Amino acid sequence: MHTTASDGVLSPSQVVLRAKEKGVGLIAITDHDTVSGLPEGRATAQAYGIRLIAGVEISADGENEVHVLGYGVSENSVKLLALFARMKEERLQRAQRILEKLRALNMPIDWAEIPQQQGVVGRPRIARVMVAKGYAQSVSEAFERFIGNGKPAYVPREPLAVRDAVALLRQEGAVPVLAHPGAIKMRPETVLAALPDWIDAGLMGIEVYHPAHQPNAFARWEWAAERYGLLVTGGSDFHEVGDKHGDIGQMIPAWRACQTDVQRLLAHLE
Ligand code: AMP
Ligand code: ZN
Repeated sequence: MHTTASDGVLSPSQVVLRAKEKGVGLIAITDHDTVSGLPEGRATAQAYGIRLIAGVEISADGENEVHVLGYGVSENSVKLLALFARMKEERLQRAQRILEKLRALNMPIDWAEIPQQQGVVGRPRIARVMVAKGYAQSVSEAFERFIGNGKPAYVPREPLAVRDAVALLRQEGAVPVLAHPGAIKMRPETVLAALPDWIDAGLMGIEVYHPAHQPNAFARWEWAAERYGLLVTGGSDFHEVGDKHGDIGQMIPAWRACQTDVQRLLAHLE
């Protein structure tokens, strides 16, 4: 789940409270390229009797948007913190370039209008301001017409190799899991063909249960997990209430072996 530490709308505490309301007893906060939301999330989770897995979601492979989840991530890893600091700086510069392009397209936005500019600034933050200013009807439209990949105000990220993200997480004691394989901007066959290489780098699991996956995708990625002996994980990818991502707890009904799969993951975190 995402919080205001990256491109979510709710603070870490508000995310935990929403999980409590939804009756979800175990959650993972996995902000994009930062662990800065974890201390607040952990404190609130403890207060409300919810188990929190410390996580992160590293954006790799640039335009293909291959995301690598790291469960049980350490918040004190010098190497990870150095990577996140670099990525944060790179994102700030990219966000400013996106605003320049929008300005040239007659959609001016001041830097001060972007909330939490000091945090991890992802495109959803910019898209929400575009909606508030009437430049687009919805976040999805902002992506489809202006800031999505290849659109007029698009600025690519500096690519990080998937193998490097996986290996670093593993080396620093986290369990690396391939996020939402069905939402990667690659054909499923290409993702399947890349799996052995990523597993060789240390990949341990695959996120089968994700809101962007249709039921036939559950079967495909379950098969891949079985074929390669990977852990099966799932989640809502929660960013805000009522957007194109999921809501907290949404995947649980579809995820039949949820209890066993989560126990297997937890066994690797201890
Ligand atoms: P960034 O990390 O800045 O490259 O932005 C990527 C994030 O934008 C993804 O993780 C999604 O959460 C979100 N996103 C990508 N495409 C769309 C879309 N068409 N509509 C809404 N959100 C999107
Ligand atoms: Zn993602």
